[in-house]
Amino acid sequence: MAFRKYVTLSYDDGPKHDRRFVAMLNEYGVKCTFNLISGSMPDDDPDSWYISKAEAADLYRGHEIATHSKNHPHLETLPRAEITEQIMDDRAALEAIAGYPVIGHAYPFGSFSNTVVEVLGECGIRYARTVRSTKRFGIPENPLLLDPTCHHRAPEVFRLIDEFLAAEPTDGDMLFYLWGHTFEFDRNEEFNSWEHIDRVLKAISGKPGVEYVTNLGFFERV
Ligand SMILES: [Zn+2]
Repeated sequence: MAFRKYVTLSYDDGPKHDRRFVAMLNEYGVKCTFNLISGSMPDDDPDSWYISKAEAADLYRGHEIATHSKNHPHLETLPRAEITEQIMDDRAALEAIAGYPVIGHAYPFGSFSNTVVEVLGECGIRYARTVRSTKRFGIPENPLLLDPTCHHRAPEVFRLIDEFLAAEPTDGDMLFYLWGHTFEFDRNEEFNSWEHIDRVLKAISGKPGVEYVTNLGFFERV
């Protein structure tokens, strides 16, 4: 059996900056999972800081819409019933937009507890991203504790891309998993700008033998 290499991205909160990012992703042929906060999304307002529900389906088409909870609380501080509500309400609102089952999640603030992980499973969530960078390309043992390779502002991001592209997947599939927030690119720092993410996308995209997938695409790989 031949093993393969996959690249996936995960960007949080659904700010208006996602528009520019999606255009870049589409140009480079790279796929992303967008973790949205439905409680912050207006029904229809092109001037809102958050992408509206009316715009989301078209904007994120070809990528994936996933949950980030309804109101972005520290989920581990809530009683079980409220954690369930935060996830199920977000799922319902996002499924109405997406038109497909929403089974991915990213932990707000990256924080969680055993209870949160359990409740996610009960809510039908199949994979959930943490903020713990591995700087590696392994496949997570527990998809509900999906540790990314790195944040886009990691100074070693280009070294990791080179290492990933040069590696042979001899022991199993390999995953390069990048995460962040698109509003961060406006900060215009050395490793945190629109120019920087353009260089990252250019470096990792269009490589033979690499599959570019959403988180869902990765977990549904055959
Ligand atoms: Zn967030």
